[in-house]
Amino acid sequence: MTPIKNAPRQMMRQLHEIMASADEAEVRLNKVVHLVAVNMVAEVCSAYFIRGGDTLELFATEGLKAEAVHHTRLRVGEGLVGLVAATGSSLNLSNAQDHPKFAYRPETGEEIYKSMMAVPILRTGKVVGVLAVQNKASRHYSEEEEEALQTIAMVLAELVVSGDLITAQDEKDGGDERAGIKHFGGMVFAEGLAEGVVVLHEPKLEILQHLSEDYKLQLEKLDKGFESLLKQLDEIMSAEDILHHGEHREILDVYKLFARDKGWRLKIEDAIESGLTAEAAVEKIQVENRSKMMKTEDPYLRERLSDLDDLANRLIRHLMGKAGTAADKSLPQEAVVVANNMGPAELLEYDRDKLNAVLLQEGSHTSHVAIVARALGIPMIGQIDENILDLDDGEQIIVHGLDGEVYVNPPPEILESYRDTIAARAKLLARYDDMRDKPVITKDGIEIELVINGGLAMDIEGMHRTGATGVGLFRTEFQFMISKTLPRINPQAEFYKSIIDAADGKPVTFRTLDIGGDKEVSFLKRDNEDNPALGWRAIRIALDRPALLRYQLRALITAAAGTTLNVMFPMITNVAEFKLAKSILEKELSRHKQNNRPMPTEVKVGTMLEVPSLVWQMDALLPLVDFISIGSNDLMQFFYASDRDNPKLSNRYDTLSPPALKMLKYISDKCSEHEIPLTLCGEIGGKTLGALALLALGYRRLSVAPAAIGPVKMMIRSLDIGQAEDFIEELVSRSEPNIRAELRTFARTNGVRI
Ligand code: PEP
Ligand code: MG
Repeated sequence: MTPIKNAPRQMMRQLHEIMASADEAEVRLNKVVHLVAVNMVAEVCSAYFIRGGDTLELFATEGLKAEAVHHTRLRVGEGLVGLVAATGSSLNLSNAQDHPKFAYRPETGEEIYKSMMAVPILRTGKVVGVLAVQNKASRHYSEEEEEALQTIAMVLAELVVSGDLITAQDEKDGGDERAGIKHFGGMVFAEGLAEGVVVLHEPKLEILQHLSEDYKLQLEKLDKGFESLLKQLDEIMSAEDILHHGEHREILDVYKLFARDKGWRLKIEDAIESGLTAEAAVEKIQVENRSKMMKTEDPYLRERLSDLDDLANRLIRHLMGKAGTAADKSLPQEAVVVANNMGPAELLEYDRDKLNAVLLQEGSHTSHVAIVARALGIPMIGQIDENILDLDDGEQIIVHGLDGEVYVNPPPEILESYRDTIAARAKLLARYDDMRDKPVITKDGIEIELVINGGLAMDIEGMHRTGATGVGLFRTEFQFMISKTLPRINPQAEFYKSIIDAADGKPVTFRTLDIGGDKEVSFLKRDNEDNPALGWRAIRIALDRPALLRYQLRALITAAAGTTLNVMFPMITNVAEFKLAKSILEKELSRHKQNNRPMPTEVKVGTMLEVPSLVWQMDALLPLVDFISIGSNDLMQFFYASDRDNPKLSNRYDTLSPPALKMLKYISDKCSEHEIPLTLCGEIGGKTLGALALLALGYRRLSVAPAAIGPVKMMIRSLDIGQAEDFIEELVSRSEPNIRAELRTFARTNGVRI
């Protein structure tokens, strides 16, 4: 066959004519396999498509026995054709029968064919079929021939997209009445139950037209596509826009290099000149690149593959006018947004009245997007064990954000049981509401203080609704993250005042800016860091750029006029840093006073304790602070040297482990000794089992997400702390990786509601 690259215009024109004709899909398919066989001088050309999820069925053949059509079926993974479908990679074999996977099907009469080349038919990156050619003689198919077959396979995917070849009815008649029902699991990031329809965060790239007769027009389209792609990359890099998918500069630098690569562009242009549309040409070159890179042993190149895939997809999005996210469009009612991952600011861009739940392929429980979801009360499941990006917009979906289950197109019995669960949960929530004004006191009469973590104005409403007695941690950075420019002092002060006013006399502890790590802001250029969580972040930035901290403190002092200002600093690593930060606050206070501005009646200054080194300076630190607040999310990530945002590590080290609990006990004992109030505001306090352990270790003030107040309060009111203290004492000296099972048994035998 003349390689496509060398413009076999005639064949592409014929292919175009066949695909554009009014013939039935199966007739068109037969014509295509015939065309391929003739042009490729192959004795056989066959097309297989996947039916019912995991069976490949022969749909058309030139050369094999006609009676095998719709009769020959292989499981995905079975035989050579099944192998191509399972791996998504091509096979090019001069002696196919020697291959260990070769499976002979007598009805096809294929025993006489020695050589074989088979390529996957891909639709949005997913294998939907296999296209194969065979020859009697042992021959090697050239690289150009392989590329040509891939192009034709790509065009054939159109038949599946259009639904003409395999209709939904066919799938039902094929016996799979429950086709479309999917069930998978993940990790609960934010609790709740939701029913709704799938909305893909980034629209799917469904190429509907592969062939074009006007290549000049397509080349122009490509020019524009590249232009807007580069513009988008520049925008992200200059950080004019907020939080884009947590991308890092290093990756973006590589993207830009690829995007400017002349070789890549020339290949795409060649493919366009051979008769493809611009988007199909990008896809074709990407399929080729992928198959070449998959064969390489070089780990660096293989890693770059996902970058290239992402870049090619971005370019296709620009070519198809689909560069935004679903937040830019109007959402259907009851939307369940499905994404690979997203940043907190992206989540905030959605219309919350219509957003019922979010599913993330990746993510982690302590990432900020998960924290924001909990704050907003939006159920979120992440780290899902199936490819959720394959779902289609509009599919019906149930998100069981209590046990981490997801059902797509649920059958009636699941729907019914789910609705029962909703009713049961509504009852439970009503019980939490009933407890709203009941004291937070243990069975043995010890009072516990439950306050909330917040960062958005609406969190204060959550505090009142749940009966929490204050805000233990107000994350001021959320306001900065959703702003494209540095918020000025006055709007900052107004915002903080609105929070203090809304809290209506209940104390609010503001934490100064904690940016860096996964919390990026648009107005501060940061270096490309290898370890951003260990890098230039939080108080480290504030002390190096004191103006930022000074302005924020000024805004806080202004906002707290006539009341108590509670303020603390994030990521303090040594006593000197705390002293310096406190001295900046003191300077701002005296400046404020000198200017005769209304002052706070009282100022309490404390620190977050989230870096292990500070634990070993407590005797020097505690005399200087008014309070301590443990950020266990960071404290544990540094304690275990385990990235809190890395999904591969999220279940690896347990906070409820003897060494971690020993450290927490040490901190609590030190604070009692120095009579310094202690709060814990990390995520462990929001889980009933974690809260139980903390109370047993001496903790009496927990700051948790508003949604956790009810369950934690219910646990507290059923607990006898004296009993729990005795029980945990021995456990913290054990060497197991965690003490969860023991705590659960304790709760069960003593009627503690966890
Ligand atoms: C923490 O680290 O536990 C904490 C409360 O702060 P953040 O989650 O905002 O880093
Ligand atoms: Mg922290």
